[in-house]
Amino acid sequence: MGKLILGQLLENNRKWIKKQINKDPDYFKKLALGQSPKYLMVGCSDSRVPLNNLLKAPPGEIFIHRNIANQVSLTDMNFLSVLEYSVEYLKIEYIIIVGHYACGGLAAAIDGVDQGLMENWVAPIKDLYINNFKELSKIEDKQKMADKLSEINVVSQARNIFKTAVMHRALLKETYPKVLAWIFDIYTGEMKEMHLPLEQWKEEGILPKHYEY
Ligand SMILES: [Zn+2]
Repeated sequence: MGKLILGQLLENNRKWIKKQINKDPDYFKKLALGQSPKYLMVGCSDSRVPLNNLLKAPPGEIFIHRNIANQVSLTDMNFLSVLEYSVEYLKIEYIIIVGHYACGGLAAAIDGVDQGLMENWVAPIKDLYINNFKELSKIEDKQKMADKLSEINVVSQARNIFKTAVMHRALLKETYPKVLAWIFDIYTGEMKEMHLPLEQWKEEGILPKHYEY
């Protein structure tokens, strides 16, 4: 891990250009015309979770926002502008929050050791940890407990999407993006879909009754 030297990165880029042009001489002309991706994904900044690579999705397929521990922050202008642009202008069809096991952000939230500003950023996860402590404390293995919190986190971030003004506006229309939560199982490489308690969210008033999934 972490072995690529700078020159090699640029060399890889040149090889990739050749490969693309061999397949289609107009590849870059077409790429420059614009994008119409179907997916917005919110992932973790972790270098082991490069979403395009894991999903074999070429350029133009996924609009991506990444931050530490895949947070849907309601005060983050960066995230909110990504959400608004992708929903209202690109008209993406799916919003997928992608968490992962063995997430350093989660460990920082649990342990509370000094890791600088990251601690502030993951403070909402600390609250998730505290709110779910009864369930989590039953899991003896520390890593398994942290991985369970990854699952709780990704579902909670999917729920946060429904708290945004962008999503409220989208839900007034006939078509609106569907929200999903996935977990990248770093131990096996599998991308797993998490269950979202949408009916419960409807009862709680977080989600309008007409939302179809
Ligand atoms: Zn992570």
